[in-house]
Amino acid sequence: MGGTFDPIHYGHLVTAEAARQSFGMEQVVFVPAGHPPHKEGKPISTGQHRYLMTVLATVTNPHFEVSRTEVDRPGPSYAVETIREFHRRYGEDTQIYFITGADAILEICTWYDSRKLLGLCQFIAATRPGYSLENLDVLQHKLSPELVRSIHLLEVPALAISSSDIRERVRRHGPIKYLLPEAVEHYIAKSRLYLDAPANGEA
Ligand code: ATP
Ligand code: MG
Repeated sequence: MGGTFDPIHYGHLVTAEAARQSFGMEQVVFVPAGHPPHKEGKPISTGQHRYLMTVLATVTNPHFEVSRTEVDRPGPSYAVETIREFHRRYGEDTQIYFITGADAILEICTWYDSRKLLGLCQFIAATRPGYSLENLDVLQHKLSPELVRSIHLLEVPALAISSSDIRERVRRHGPIKYLLPEAVEHYIAKSRLYLDAPANGEA
C-alpha cells in the first residue's frame, strides 16, 4: 500500500487489513512515498517522520510491515520502480496487489508509466467516502480491457478520515483522538508536527 501517510490514520489501516483478508495476502507492506510527484510544491513532513509514524501504527499487526525503499530512493517516487524492486525481492512469481483508495485509482492514468504498472501487479480500489467508484468506467476508455481486469473493487467499512483533515485539526489545536493510533497521536505532539503547515516541510 503506497501513500504519503502524513500522517497514517485508521482509514489506511482498515483498508489494508480488509484487502489482506479479502484477497488472502500473506503480508501488507506499507510504502511511504519519498518525494510524491503529485504533491510537488505542497509542504510534507520528512520521509523519516512519515516512516516512523507508519511503523508505530502497524506494530501491533504481525501481517503488516513498512518499507523504506521510496523514502531512501533519491528523486521522485514512481510506483512502477517499487513494484519492480518488490518482484526482485519477493520473487517474480509472487502475486503483488497494489492497494489504493477510490481517489487514487481514478488518477491512475496520470501516474508515471501506468500501463506498465498495471501489467506488473493487480490493483485494489477500495471504497472511500466522498469519492465514487462509478467513475471507474472512464478508465475503460483509456485502458485496454485486459488492464481494466487487473483492477479489483473492494468495499471497506466507510471511514471519512483524511490526513489533510488531521493536519488541519492539529494546526487549529482540534481533537484527533480515535482518527489514528494513539502512538501516532503522541508522535505528532512530541515532534510538533503540523502546527504551522509550511515550517514542517521537507525543504
Ligand atoms: P491527504 O489528505 O494528505 O491526501 P490521505 O488521507 O488521502 O492524505 P494518502 O497518504 O494520500 O492519505 O493515501 C494513501 C492511500 O490510502 C490512497 O490510495 C488513498 O486513496 C487511501 N486512503 C486514504 N484514506 C482513506 C480512507 N479513509 N478510506 C479508504 N482509503 C483511503
Ligand atoms: Mg490523498
